[in-house]
Amino acid sequence: HAVDLSGRVAIVTGANSGIGRGIALELAAAGAKVVVNHRPNEDSERRAAEVVQQIVDAGGQAVAAAADISREDDVDHLFRVAADHFQGLDILVNNAGIEQPAAIQDMTLAQWQKVIDTNLTGQFLCARAASRVFLNRQAPPPAGEAAGKIVFISSVHEVIPWAFQSNYAASKGGVSLLMQSLAQELAPMKIRVNSVAPGAIRTPINAPAWNTPESLASLLKLIPYGRIGEPEDVARAVAWLASDDSDYVTGSTLFVDGGMTLYPGFRGAG
Ligand code: NAD
Repeated sequence: HAVDLSGRVAIVTGANSGIGRGIALELAAAGAKVVVNHRPNEDSERRAAEVVQQIVDAGGQAVAAAADISREDDVDHLFRVAADHFQGLDILVNNAGIEQPAAIQDMTLAQWQKVIDTNLTGQFLCARAASRVFLNRQAPPPAGEAAGKIVFISSVHEVIPWAFQSNYAASKGGVSLLMQSLAQELAPMKIRVNSVAPGAIRTPINAPAWNTPESLASLLKLIPYGRIGEPEDVARAVAWLASDDSDYVTGSTLFVDGGMTLYPGFRGAG
């Protein structure tokens, strides 16, 4: 395998679906023990159990943990599962996120709040909990290793404005400076904090953007590299940032977007 995470313990939020599922499988394949977080509902629980089973069948270690990451007490529970089950924590992947599109004049406070609560406050709550674990380590890490790693799953919409998804873009813009501020704050304590910003990835969150030939063709106009991304494309970047191979990288956003942030509309213009 490309990177070695053997013996490491990782929490991946929203790991029952899409990109989070891909990350959980990739980290486990690299040797990590994975806490597969899912929302506390029956469907998510069933799909998280499938991810855990897939990891175990492949010879890895994983456990499912129900928690709504926008709730403080649920996040406490999630981190207790990691401590009780795997006796430690080395990696947090802050992946869980939602969209609630609406024109600004029609956007309800509930739609605004739900997206901010999940995509920004939820990431804060999990990053805070992980920092507490990492800062409580008894011994300093050996040279070339961090005391802990946090990877945020942001979006190209941390820089690209998004009409009718202003709540989502605001949450991801917030994640950008949350990540950088934590990276600046925690670097002296040898905790590395980075983001992966996906472009268009084939998952349930954006199915209407790729599940008809017409919508896919129009999406591909935004992607210079000429294909939609897969969860594995994002997962490999996360595994690298979560490994000691990236030991000197902190405060960075790695765009995994087939060039979406290169403003392809300007190709041949002027
Ligand atoms: P998805 O809908 O397949 O997965 C989202 C996951 O988050 C689900 O497992 C869901 O249950 C979970 N979740 C939502 N709210 C939660 C909560 N309160 N507590 C716990 N879990 C919760 O979508 P995805 O595409 O895999 O999205 C994963 C992340 O990637 C999100 O942060 C999203 O913003 C980001 N992203 C996705 C794309 C894309 O094109 N798919 C692009 C850029 C960024």
